[in-house]
Amino acid sequence: MLQHPDFLVVGAGLTGATLARLLADAGHRVVVVERRDRIAGNLHDSVHESGIRIHDHGPHYFRTSSAWIWDFVNRFASFHPFEARIKSLVDGEHVSWPLGRAYIERRIGAWQPPPRTHGARDFEEAALSLMPAPVYETFVKPYNEKQWGVPAHSLSADLCKRFDVREDNDDRLTPKATFQGVPRQGYAAMLQAMLSGIPVLMNQHFRAASDWLAPKRLTFFTGPIDEYFDYCDGRLLYRAQRRAHRWLPDTDLHQPCVQVNNPLHEAGPHIRTIEWKHLMPEAYRQRITGTVLTTETPYTPDDPAEYEYPFPDAANQALYRRYRERADAVPNVVFCGRLGEYRYLDMDQAIGRAQTIANRVLEGREAA
Ligand SMILES: Cc1cc2nc3c(=O)[nH]c(=O)nc-3n(C[C@H](O)[C@H](O)[C@H](O)COP(=O)(O)OP(=O)(O)OC[C@H]3O[C@@H](n4cnc5c(N)ncnc54)[C@H](O)[C@@H]3O)c2cc1C
Repeated sequence: MLQHPDFLVVGAGLTGATLARLLADAGHRVVVVERRDRIAGNLHDSVHESGIRIHDHGPHYFRTSSAWIWDFVNRFASFHPFEARIKSLVDGEHVSWPLGRAYIERRIGAWQPPPRTHGARDFEEAALSLMPAPVYETFVKPYNEKQWGVPAHSLSADLCKRFDVREDNDDRLTPKATFQGVPRQGYAAMLQAMLSGIPVLMNQHFRAASDWLAPKRLTFFTGPIDEYFDYCDGRLLYRAQRRAHRWLPDTDLHQPCVQVNNPLHEAGPHIRTIEWKHLMPEAYRQRITGTVLTTETPYTPDDPAEYEYPFPDAANQALYRRYRERADAVPNVVFCGRLGEYRYLDMDQAIGRAQTIANRVLEGREAA
């Protein structure tokens, strides 16, 4: 029954699970292969002995302004409303990030956003054209140098996002997203429900499965694109975070919000501290004794299972384009997801992209 499905999906992360669900819902036979011993990819989560849920690959806040995407995820999980707030710990003060105008004016005096300029050559130039130099030097430059492990000027200008200054006291990270929350039973359970009724072969590497499971129509490959080609043009670089967990059994809450950034080099190599209890519904949180803190320290992983962020510089983008050309020439395989497209995708973007690809296939335009 498993043999020769219509579609083979490689990877049981969010991209693979969304594709598998949409194609199965349309009546097709789909099989998923996953090389790990667990589903959910980077969305995997687990419960600490205290009852506190931890996201194994860093905190995941779900947000979208698409009603379709929100309805889709709510088919598989009940969400509790949650809007993330982030602070940066600087000189002993928890400062809201994005910064409020009041903070900027207190620290550096009156400030107006500079007129938009185009054509910045690198991240540093782009950032300095958007924000006051002291803000860049304190909050942005050291944070990004820790995150990527290279001088800020060697990073791509595209990494520099619009500098969002809050005119009011609104300290929510993404106030513009219409729907925001966290699945009450976690992301792994959400993906389990998404994959319900679809055969998922665990501990199964794509190479070993591709012969006897050759699909009648297409393979969707959501693994690393360079690995598919045996790194023939060289390896694409990724960054990841090493996570150290600490349980404080006698502390109710340790920090003011779920995520506290630690931008300054002199404050240690970790880039942020997560306090998971903030992600839980208030009523449930009150029943839990103690708290779990996780510090995250960036590093460069060798093992593809540890890849988190594609590296944002020109050399890696050029290398990705070479692999993309190879990928486009492979018949009946669609490379997608954050590893297949070597691109950071928020969860709603991953779902939206998978929906677009599935729609094209269902409309008969097989090559996505
Ligand atoms: C630290 C961090 C924090 C994030 N926080 C947020 C957030 O707050 N909000 C948000 O919206 N998004 C967030 N994201 C983004 C989110 O993690 C991604 O959108 C999501 O993981 C994309 O899923 P994917 O299926 O494309 O990739 P993955 O999750 O990597 O899934 C790919 C799967 O394919 C499997 N696989 C790979 N190669 C093979 C092979 N050869 N054979 C078989 N199986 C294979 C892997 O084991 C994996 O299970 C965050 C990402 C990171 C790194």
